[in-house]
Amino acid sequence: MVRRMATVATTTTTERLTSYNPSTGEAIGSVPIHTQADVDAAVARARVAATSWSALSFGARAEEMVAFRKALAAHADELAELLHRENGKPELEALTEVMMALGHIQHATARAEAAMAPRRVSAGLLANFRATISYHPLGVIGVIGPWNYPLFTPMGSIAYALAAGNAVVWKPSELTPLVATKVAEIAQKTFALTDLLQVVTGAGATGAALAKSAVDKISFTGSAATGKRVMLAASERLTPVLMELGGKDPMVVAEDADLDKAAEACVYGALTNAGQACISVERVYVADAIHDKFVDKVVENVRALRVGGDDGHLGAMTSPAQVAIVKDHLEDAVAKGAKVVTGGVDAISGNYIQPTVLTGVDHHMKVMRDETFGPVIPIQRVGSLDEAVKLANDTSYGLGSSVFAGKAARTIANRLRAGMTSVNSVMAFAGIPSLPFGGVGDSGFGRIHGDEGIREFTRIKSTAEQVVALPLNMLSFRQPKDMTKRLRGMIKQLYGEGVMARAADLWRKLT
Ligand code: NDP
Repeated sequence: MVRRMATVATTTTTERLTSYNPSTGEAIGSVPIHTQADVDAAVARARVAATSWSALSFGARAEEMVAFRKALAAHADELAELLHRENGKPELEALTEVMMALGHIQHATARAEAAMAPRRVSAGLLANFRATISYHPLGVIGVIGPWNYPLFTPMGSIAYALAAGNAVVWKPSELTPLVATKVAEIAQKTFALTDLLQVVTGAGATGAALAKSAVDKISFTGSAATGKRVMLAASERLTPVLMELGGKDPMVVAEDADLDKAAEACVYGALTNAGQACISVERVYVADAIHDKFVDKVVENVRALRVGGDDGHLGAMTSPAQVAIVKDHLEDAVAKGAKVVTGGVDAISGNYIQPTVLTGVDHHMKVMRDETFGPVIPIQRVGSLDEAVKLANDTSYGLGSSVFAGKAARTIANRLRAGMTSVNSVMAFAGIPSLPFGGVGDSGFGRIHGDEGIREFTRIKSTAEQVVALPLNMLSFRQPKDMTKRLRGMIKQLYGEGVMARAADLWRKLT
């Protein structure tokens, strides 16, 4: 097998994209800006790799996936350092991200064969047939990733796509291309097929080129606005898309919740990664009777946090554009009557935002409706759990959610219109690789993680195999003369008031 020396896709231009450290503003590296021709060439190479990769047994693929995971684990510190410098997140959060990404590679590798195992299903009336559903790799998957979790989030698609037998072409965010480039370099040294996992870099235009290319599916993570553009571009070739978009995740705190645990979890869920997580706690609904006590506990937790430094609790915001959105939401909320309990607009300095707690908020404010994506905790008082559920569901998004409650916790969880809910915890669903991850409404569709996340990168094949031939063959033009009469009788018997239909209905009721 010939190994090429390039680590990312080769390029036809000399233009480069610089990556900056948001904490210091220093340039930390640069990558090529890949054109449509470069992207198309990468996809063509990936298709060749996909053919060989898909022909391997699950066991043989697993061996290589394990080697890839181990190689990434051996570079964990280097990857975390890059995440820390490129994205601005503290070192501990960066290393946690590496660990979670590795967990998905391990899980996808372990589950691929079982998740894609062919299934026998009932052949119904055609009882002389063997009916089977089987799952096959799609071919080449285009992965477009965001900047907030530059490794963990794309790996939620990449690991599952590879484990399912596909090749991947990955376009990272222009704000965080170096982490992806490092992963591609490691992949190239680990996988026998050097084009199995390729990275194309550049700004939005490179992502658009991937969406238009001949990939077999696009897995997109990012904002709803860009997601719509990606869908439009993919529609040219009817390329299927998986959309992991933003969220406005609610947290509901009931009167009988454990307030200490709820406050601690709320602060972590809202402020981890400086609030730049699609499943951040973005708004909190608290029962009237415990509202003030809960706010006090949240503020106490928040005031214990350090912002900045390599080992602070909150790092720099990754982009000035995001700082501007947070500022706008805070100004809008204050202008409409919200109270700043701690933090606030005055506590923004460059790319650093002090965690902010707001009370007296309502749904006329942007901070309760649009994705803030920053270290802000808006807390709304509610008169009943019904009101909390109604407000929680008053959103076009539906990604994550959380509930802190006693006996009503599960009932509340089931009433939340969201792809995922944590009960008496926050974000826990994202750390359980067997749980599918994804949303509804403006949060997108399709699922990564879990067995569903493996099957997202497969095509479903239905096979009907005739095992024995019957004297009466419905799939033929050669029918007895009285076939129409017979059919009328069958319809009545099977689906109308006949004995067989009634027996089937009774069986359904009893089982
Ligand atoms: P964007 O939508 O701005 O960008 C996402 C990716 O799309 C980037 O790689 C971007 O490249 C690329 N892109 C930009 N324009 C185009 C285009 N026209 N065609 C194809 N690709 C394009 O999102 P962010 O990077 O700002 O990520 C933050 C968003 O992601 C938030 O809304 C967050 O909630 C969501 N998110 C969702 C998650 C989920 O699993 N549901 C997880 C993590 C984040 P470039 O950066 O180079 O412009």
